[in-house]
Amino acid sequence: MSPHEVCMLIGHDGEVLWCDESNSPARMPDSRSRWQAIWRLREVLEEVAHSHPDGPLGFSTEDESTMSALTSALGKPLRFSVVAPEGMVSRQGDRDVLVVEEPWWAEALRSASGIRHTPSGLA
Ligand SMILES: [Zn+2]
Repeated sequence: MSPHEVCMLIGHDGEVLWCDESNSPARMPDSRSRWQAIWRLREVLEEVAHSHPDGPLGFSTEDESTMSALTSALGKPLRFSVVAPEGMVSRQGDRDVLVVEEPWWAEALRSASGIRHTPSGLA
């Protein structure tokens, strides 16, 4: 399996509500089925996470426009995060914070994305 971006919709207590993947390592095209899932799950949706199998550990310009579109469409604050090989970043308010204690699904997102290695320092 070659590395590719995967998107997960996360609900309360880290429940994975929905998941889809692209066939590209660098770019996740806007997907109609993802928008429909987000809308259907909007009452329970708390976090939108996706992977950057080749990095960077941060949000892309494309991610920024997707995030602002989602926030205004849903009319409620969502948490956004990016999982890269070397770690995980989460947007909290208007700051990007390195997540030290990763949720359980971060490693599942890595393996679904075809990322083989885990962050250094984590057993
Ligand atoms: Zn991205």
